[in-house]
Formats: sequence, structure tokens, C-alpha cells
Amino acid sequence: MKRSNPSLYESTLTNLPLPTFFLSRDLRVRIWNEHAEALFGWKFEEVDGQLPPLIHPEDIVFTETLWFSFLEKQETLHLKNVRMLAKDGTLFRDIELSPVVEDGLVIGAVFCCLPERHRRDITSKPVFQELIDLRTAFDETANVTVFDAKGTITYVNDLFSRLFEYRPEELVSQSWRSLLPSEAKELPAIRDSLKSGNAWSGKVDVLTRRGVVKQIQATLIPLRDIYDVPYQFIFIGIDITEKVRHERQLNFVANHNELTGLLNKRGFLDTGEEMFDLAGKENPIAFLLFDLDRFKVINDSFGPQIGDLLLTSVAERIENHAEDAIICHPGGDQFGLLISSHGHESAFRFTRKLQQALQRPYYINGHTLFITCTFGIALYPSESTTLFELYRRAELALFAGKAIGAGTIQYLTEEMDTTYTRKVQIERALFTALDEHSFHLHFQPIVDLKDKRLAGFEALLRWRHKELGDVPPSEFIPLAEAAALIIPINNWVLLEACDQLKKWHETIDPGLTMAVNLSPQQFQSETLMRTLQLIVKEGRIKPASLILEVTENVAMLRTKETVERMRLIKSLGFRLSLDDFGTGYSSLQYLRAFPVDELKIDKVFIDGIDQNDSALLDSIIHLGCSLGLNLVAEGVETESALSYLEQTKCQQMQGFIFSKPLSAEQVEQQYASKKE
Ligand code: C2E
Ligand code: CA
Ligand code: CA
Repeated sequence: MKRSNPSLYESTLTNLPLPTFFLSRDLRVRIWNEHAEALFGWKFEEVDGQLPPLIHPEDIVFTETLWFSFLEKQETLHLKNVRMLAKDGTLFRDIELSPVVEDGLVIGAVFCCLPERHRRDITSKPVFQELIDLRTAFDETANVTVFDAKGTITYVNDLFSRLFEYRPEELVSQSWRSLLPSEAKELPAIRDSLKSGNAWSGKVDVLTRRGVVKQIQATLIPLRDIYDVPYQFIFIGIDITEKVRHERQLNFVANHNELTGLLNKRGFLDTGEEMFDLAGKENPIAFLLFDLDRFKVINDSFGPQIGDLLLTSVAERIENHAEDAIICHPGGDQFGLLISSHGHESAFRFTRKLQQALQRPYYINGHTLFITCTFGIALYPSESTTLFELYRRAELALFAGKAIGAGTIQYLTEEMDTTYTRKVQIERALFTALDEHSFHLHFQPIVDLKDKRLAGFEALLRWRHKELGDVPPSEFIPLAEAAALIIPINNWVLLEACDQLKKWHETIDPGLTMAVNLSPQQFQSETLMRTLQLIVKEGRIKPASLILEVTENVAMLRTKETVERMRLIKSLGFRLSLDDFGTGYSSLQYLRAFPVDELKIDKVFIDGIDQNDSALLDSIIHLGCSLGLNLVAEGVETESALSYLEQTKCQQMQGFIFSKPLSAEQVEQQYASKKE
């Protein structure tokens, strides 16, 4: 039986490789597939619209009762005892009966005669019911088509035919492959799936009637017969053309400069990756980064519109000049080019020519504009291991070039490279330093100026790396700050210093203090507060013996929050000290607002003593005293400075003249023994 656009179940039934027929509510035969013809011996024409001729006369009453209860219950029935009669008199049993429901009403039932082999492993889910489930799930939301093993379409739903701009009857009986462009790269995978009978899922391009390509997210489900041979395929597709276009658009925006449409930094690092990977000794490349000198002046005097037009013209000139380059416009007035280039000379020649082209006058809206540009160049192969590093090196070179002057073409020098390489190495090594236990502390004694009695120590962080050697804190602490590693590191310092002090309270002097440096990030972090609370809770040391040093710049950063945080720390019993006092931005009058206990007067003021310039030192000491703060002179190196300080009201000092920072062992040797 054929209709112009058979519904999904009709086409499925007709193609089901089992003897199958459909009875409408009035028990009339409506569908009778060819396997049913073969099994029962009646042709469709003979049974069409009739009562099924195969119910055993003795079972008729029973069957009718059964039928009505079936219509009521809408459940699949497995009839084992109803005898079916073929045309030649053969008897059959074992029939599966599935309701076909439309709009909540049973419109009929499907009868499947289960073959011998299938009978044993029949599952609770009847064969036909699965297909019906699929239909309801997908028919309304997706583009569905069914084709047979030969690829001939036997069913299309409305959405599917609409998508392809055909009428359903034009598609049925066609080969489904005609809907795919012949060069579709997914074809081999799909073919494999068809052959093997495995489901396939992926994106595929299809061709509509008018030849428009649409992107479909598709799933191809093979239905296998009882011999495991696929006899039918259901293709379920969602049209994602719009979504893909939208994604592409978003992707473009994310990877390109809005103004010029050139790649932005992110897009460049992505796109340039391949060229970088292919580059090497035989195939050297160079990355040029440049910006326009005094672009801001042009922008300010001619307006941003002219500024934008100028940038667009610059972009055009680069594109005309360097067709093979990967060009980027990371932002502002900065542009970059990745070119293949044989060494310094060739890169320089290229750059010089480009610079000349870019520096020719621009005629924009009646204005004649002149620009110069400064270049930074980094070559590869070199120390760089990634395009990102090459980019950063060009940035360094450009930065150095800007310092020299407008119009400079600056290579990355070996010195810049060494500095940079070391920076990268340190950054990398810092990540594992805590785990590798490569940090330790040194302790610099702080003494009372009057009687030179040991008052306490300042804990100073030391790092010995297995390859980099001893790295001074002035070098790695800013990098640890930048990489957000400083908080865990400083936390370790805090706890380590506490443990050490606890020991020395027993072996040296219970009155000793320990000063610990807090980084700006750490000062603002919640971790610090938790660690301090832990120290109090566990009773590791008396909080008053711990002095937390913050630089005055930290104190000035966010005054209100800072004061609050300081109060909180003080309420736990810890003492606070302003480090490097006098070098920052704080004005002296602010000092009153901060609840600190101590000022550490920076070394520059102490050095002033020997240069006969102690006016500032005097006023700091005066101010500190009037606020009742403990004053510590830092970096005292000379006898003369020491004797000067002894005459002032400064109470304590710390410096090489008394002692350099010491290891814990050295401290114990020097002080623990003295006590005995
Ligand atoms: P700072 O807090 O001002 O520490 C004093 C620095 O001056 C120390 O350098 C110390 O060795 C040095 N110094 C002491 N007396 C003299 C002297 O008489 N003459 C000279 N020329 N120098 C003297 P260091 O250990 O290299 O530390 C440098 C900076 O690193 C410290 O300056 C501090 O800002 C930071 N730092 C050290 N340890 C830590 C830490 O655990 N955490 C944080 N956040 N920063 C730390
Ligand atoms: Ca300090
Ligand atoms: Ca200091």
C-alpha cells in the first residue's frame, strides 16, 4: 500500500522485515506488508478493508473481547494463544499487538508475527513501540527522514520537506544521497555507518532545492532486522545554519579588531600558531610590532573620527605592503606582522620599506597627516618557545625602541632577551617552589639603639633554586605578586617565622619579637585573616610578639578598607609596622589615621646622615615620637650613622653594621649559646 506522503509509522510498517499488518479500530485491514503477504498467502488487494481472514473461527468471540479491552487499555499485547490461520491452513501463534495512538485515541493496532528466533529474546519493549516513541520524540521538532537499505527515501516529515523546499511526494522514492553535496566530507563516515549498521552523529552540509547549503546536526540511526542486518535508517537532523553563522560572527568579533577587521592579539596567537610551528632554521620568521608615535596628539587635535580613519588607512597600507604576512591589530595604534624572514638584515630591509610606506602622508577628510612609527622586532628561531613568547619579546623591543625615540627600529637585544628569559624561568620555577621546599628564611637581628640588646628579628625570604641558584627577593617577589603566587608563599613565611620564634622564645629570650613582611595582595586577602586567626587559636605564639610589616603604599591604596583591616589585625593582638617609611606617597598627616605601632625608617634617610642631609630623618623621628610610635632605623651601615642615631629618639635599628640577615642555624649559634 502506498500513499503520497505516508506517515512515519506507515512507512516503517511497510518496511519492517517482519510479517506485519495494521488494523483500524473497526478491525479492518489497512496495511499489509509484503512479508505478511508471503507468510499468510493473501495479497494486500485481497484483504484491504476486510476483517482479517486469519482469525481462527473458534477464536472470534474471544478476539473481539480482547480487542475492545485492548483499545481501552492502550497497551501492547503479546498474544500467545490466539491461533492465526494462513491461506493454506497453516496455524500460527505468537503475535505482538501494539496500539497506534493519535491525539490520545487508539486509531488501530499493528500486528507483528514474531519469528521463531526472535521469540525467545523478546524484551519488554515491543519492536514497533520503539519506533512510535521515536516518532513522537522527533517528528515535531526535528527534520526526519527514513530510507531503506538501498538509500531510497520512504518517509519524510513536514519539517524535512520544508527544509529542502520540496513537496513530500517529490522526495519519497528519491535517493537520499541526492540531498548531500557530492563533495560533503562527512560522506565516507556516513557510508561506513550505513555499511556497518552503527549509528552516526555529526554535522553535515545538505543542499536544498535552490542549491542553498544548510548545516545540519544529524543523527543517523540504523534499524537492524532480527539477523542484525540494517534494513532501514532514520535520519534525524536539526538545522543549525543560523547557529553556526552566529557562532562564526561571535568568533570573528572575539578574534578581530573591531575597527580594522584585522586579527586581534588572541586571533593572531591562534592563526599564527601554524606558521610558528612550521618555522625553524630553514624557515626563519620575524615578528614586528609597531605603533604610531604621538598618535594621541593626532586623536586629540583632529578628533577620534579622523584618528579611526587614519588607523584604517594604516591597516590598508600594511595589507598592501605585506601580502604574505599574518597581520594583527591588537588594539589602539599598535599593529603587528609575522613574516618569513632570513635573519636580521632581511627583517630590517623589510621593516625599513614598510616604515617608509607607512610614513608617506595620509590625506583624510581634507587633512594631510604625517606619522612616524617605531618598531620592535623579535626573530625566530631564538629563545622563544611559543608564539606568545615571541610576541612578548617584540613588545620588549618596541618598549625599548620607544625609549630611544620616534621612528626607531629596535631589535630584541641579547640583554633584553636574557632578562626576559630569566623572568620567564623564574615565573615557571615559582609555581613548584613551595612544593619543592626550596624556600627558607633568614633572620636579621633588630637591636635597641641604647644598649644594643637584641629585640627581635625580621624574617626575610630566601629562595635557592636548583638551576637558577639563589634568587634575591627583590627579583622574585614582584613576579610572585604578578602570578598571584605570593599569598601561599607569604602564608608559609608567616607560619614558619612563628614556629621559629616559638623555639627561640625558649632557647634565647621570651621577649623576642619577629617582624614579617606582608605583600599588598596578602594584606588584602582573606587567607591572611584566616592564618592569623589560626595562629591565635592554636596558641602558636603570643600575637603581640609578631610584628606585621606593610609598606606605606599599601596603607595608602584604599584608605578606608585598609584602616578597617588594620583594626581587625590589631584586635587579634598583633602589632603593625609601616615599612620603608618615607619613600611612598603617604603624606605625614595621614599617618594619624592608621592604627600602627611602628615606623621603619627607610635606608635612604639613614644614608642621608653621611651626606649631611638629615633634615627629613629628624622630622620623621619627631613625628613618630609625637605619635608614640616605635621607630626602627633600617639599613644602618656606618659608625657615623649609628652614633648620630644614638643621639636621637629613634629606639631601634637594623643594619649590616650590627648584623646581616642570618640563617636559623647562625642565629642559634650566636644567640642561644650566649644565653647559657
Ligand atoms: P625590606 O622589608 O625593606 O627588608 C630589608 C632589606 O634590606 C633586606 O633585603 C635586608 O637584607 C636589607 N638590609 C638590611 N640591612 C641592610 C644594610 O645595612 N644595608 C643594606 N644595603 N641592606 C640592608 P632583602 O632580604 O633582599 O629583602 C628585600 C625586600 O624583599 C624586603 O625589603 C622586602 O620588601 C622583600 N621581602 C623579603 N622577604 C619577604 C617576605 O617574606 N615577604 C614579602 N612580601 N616581602 C619580602
Ligand atoms: Ca621589611
Ligand atoms: Ca624596609
